[in-house]
Amino acid sequence: MRQVVSPIQTVQKILGRQKVEEGAPYRLSVHCMRVERPEGVLLYHTLTGELLLLSAEEAAALGKLPGPVPPALGEPAARWFLRPLEADDMALADQVREIAGLFVREKETALTRYTIFTTTTCNARCFYCFESGWKRSSMSEQTARDTAKYILAHCGGKPVHIEWFGGEPLVNTRVIDIITDCLRQQGTEFRSTMLSNGYLFDEALVQRAKNAWSLKDVQITMDGTEEVYNRRKSYVTPQGSPYRRVLRNIGLLLDAGVRVTVRLNMDGDNEGDLYALADELAERFGGKPDFGVYLAVLFENKGIERFGYTEEESSAYARGLRLMQAYLEKKGVATRPPLKLGITVNSCMADNSGGSTAVTPEGLLCGCTSCMNDSIWGSIYSDKVDEEVLRQWKERNPPEAACKACPVYPQCIRLKKCPNRPEHCSPIERARREEKILRGILGSYEDWKAGVPARTDTV
Ligand code: SF4
Ligand code: SF4
Repeated sequence: MRQVVSPIQTVQKILGRQKVEEGAPYRLSVHCMRVERPEGVLLYHTLTGELLLLSAEEAAALGKLPGPVPPALGEPAARWFLRPLEADDMALADQVREIAGLFVREKETALTRYTIFTTTTCNARCFYCFESGWKRSSMSEQTARDTAKYILAHCGGKPVHIEWFGGEPLVNTRVIDIITDCLRQQGTEFRSTMLSNGYLFDEALVQRAKNAWSLKDVQITMDGTEEVYNRRKSYVTPQGSPYRRVLRNIGLLLDAGVRVTVRLNMDGDNEGDLYALADELAERFGGKPDFGVYLAVLFENKGIERFGYTEEESSAYARGLRLMQAYLEKKGVATRPPLKLGITVNSCMADNSGGSTAVTPEGLLCGCTSCMNDSIWGSIYSDKVDEEVLRQWKERNPPEAACKACPVYPQCIRLKKCPNRPEHCSPIERARREEKILRGILGSYEDWKAGVPARTDTV
């Protein structure tokens, strides 16, 4: 047995080593994911985050389970990959989550991660925009200065990460300049990322973003090839073909050393066209280390019931997602998500008010970027906190029957108020979560073989 990725220390401290009872029947943990490779079998534990490579001989011993732990599997058993036949793996994950949550909250004494809405206006009119009913507003220069002051007062001198968000964040670049200038003048280390449609970049702006904004990563959404894209995005007063312009800008960003992740939005109308888009993206940007593509299903977030997807349709989308994912892998442009280092103790910014927050154009603090107005818990102008809002956004959906046998359970938290998750888990959601972990496993394994440190993500 060889260790590819070590377990997260927090969980290791909580669990220690499992005491194995001689002669008692054991089985593989429910939270263990298995991937066959020519060199052996990879076992990844979603609770501890540990990734092991078993030799063919050790893997053959797995076939003797359930049963007494064979000598070849003594070490994986001590590392929680095997569990007593009657053990409740879900209860163990719940206990670890609770204790790990206390550790993380203790560590989080500074607010260092900010998502800043520079504006809620946009130069495109995507038919699926979740902000379509929102009031349009842009951050003023004064609010930008006040936001910078707030960050400086609350980051505890630690490095800051800012995500520029909108609307289209590039519609209001002035406030990005102001905030980044203030942080730099005060000697605060920072880096930024952005969610953008990519249209408004040009050579000069890319250089400014790289140097002055410390922009490291841009996520750009695309819906299809030229005709489909231009129709679905419906830009306001476009110059030439927006599709071509966005492709040019992706090239400019990559040449400047800014990572670009393209999100392909898939729905019933554009599934076929996305294959042609993948071909074009692979031809233009394939092989560039800072380029990657990932998939999202439009309206998945509306849920089976609310949006009228039947279980069958949802399964069909899950199949479509897998096929498209395999195509992106084949083309060499699929993103490789970092492997999660063990159990998740919070879902997102909405239930993690200790270390991260979003800032609205008016300087209000909120937790959920999709529900800006419904998740406001404070303001940059006061230290008053709306505890009731924070409490509501921490509420979780209870586990479902399927969770008991689901390997991703330790890394799955579903918030009651999250608008991007249906009330009940769907085949798409399960497929997407499993797929992401599998890609993380394979990516970490390839890195390990190449002697590169594994790209991992903590609790
Ligand atoms: S939409 Fe859901 S996942 Fe996204 S920030 Fe809001 S609560 Fe979190
Ligand atoms: S993906 Fe679905 S089934 Fe699996 S743990 Fe999450 S909610 Fe449960």
